[in-house]
Amino acid sequence: MLGANVWRRIVGVDKQTVIEDVDVDEEPDAVVVHVRPRRSTKRRCGRCGVRAPGYDRGEGRRRWRALDLGTVMCFVEADSPRVNCPEHGPTVAQVPWARHGAGHTKDFDDQVAWLVTHSPKSTVAELMRVAWRTVGAVIARVVADGRAAHDPFEGLVRIGIDEISYKRGHRYLTVVVDHDSGRLVWAAVGRDKKTLESFFDLLGDERCKKIRIVTADGATWIEDVVKARCANATLCIDSFHVVQWATEALDEVRREVWNEARSKGMRAYAKELKGCRFALWRNPEDLTERQEAKLSWIARENGRLYRAYLLKEQLRLAIRRKGIISLTMLDTWLAWAARSRIPAFVELARKVRRHLAGIEAAMMNDVSNALIESTNTKLRVLHRMAFGFAKPEHLIALALLDRGGYCPALPGRSAPALAALG
Ligand SMILES: [Zn+2]
Repeated sequence: MLGANVWRRIVGVDKQTVIEDVDVDEEPDAVVVHVRPRRSTKRRCGRCGVRAPGYDRGEGRRRWRALDLGTVMCFVEADSPRVNCPEHGPTVAQVPWARHGAGHTKDFDDQVAWLVTHSPKSTVAELMRVAWRTVGAVIARVVADGRAAHDPFEGLVRIGIDEISYKRGHRYLTVVVDHDSGRLVWAAVGRDKKTLESFFDLLGDERCKKIRIVTADGATWIEDVVKARCANATLCIDSFHVVQWATEALDEVRREVWNEARSKGMRAYAKELKGCRFALWRNPEDLTERQEAKLSWIARENGRLYRAYLLKEQLRLAIRRKGIISLTMLDTWLAWAARSRIPAFVELARKVRRHLAGIEAAMMNDVSNALIESTNTKLRVLHRMAFGFAKPEHLIALALLDRGGYCPALPGRSAPALAALG
């Protein structure tokens, strides 16, 4: 038999683990490494790590999946007694090779977590021979570990708060990003005062006082909580959200024009209008030649829709600039929109006026909207990936893993404390 040192290296455990024996199990075809924790690490609560008296033998011997050895599966096998923790009661004792409640070794968990952020889900499940449901629980453990290792709210000064829909718009997550580090720092199920208050509860009074800028979408439930909790914060409205409002107003006009055309029996015209959606949505600098042609068609054929388009573009340009010039542009825009006689934009002008203080604060404080926008887009992709996970908490873990910098290094490679964002 190989020496214990070699086997420790192979299964990725440290000196806290004693290798007792290695054999091969025919069913399943796997190498089984029999281990026990060294005496000094024995009898600690699996949840808090505090020393505790023994309780019982628990479920007796059990196995943890380790990384494959070449092409063959590998398991670590050991007793899993319970201890009687003063705080947690009878709890499975801590083991040095796996996280609490895990069916896999730490290295196995870490490799799954790394793969999840670097490859398609089918690859992860096939390569690692795990069910996709299991992956949700694995990354939740990895992220919890990472967050316990250092303060996830350290140094927060400028934050963004947003809501993101999932389950086809029936459920929402409230998310908090750090404008300075670019990281997602927190997310929870729900979009109401109570949900957001639980974030500020975690942050604590001292750190709440250090928050200087909060960007959001103008929702009163966010503003009320921020005003009550962050005495030194200026509320800003992300330009991303203002552009979204304008895009929605434009879409309303497009639908009206289209419905009019249909009701008048102008079928070909209506069809042409329907195909204009993306040309109207996109930033002019990104338009394809065909979309440019569509836009000139609109300019020729429908003055109202084209004016609505120009109004959207003008607002976008005004609020994406910084400083005094942009404020002047915004004033001009407000006057134009108010007398445009396009109800959706007259209404939008009113909304912008209502939120003017927050919009101007964002322009003067130079907070980039890019972070909220990219987080928003990325979380939509992650949401599709999380399909099949058992709990929304697993979607949150996936989001934090990818956007919060909690992706671990591959086992055996070194990594910075917080991974860089891709
Ligand atoms: Zn405990």
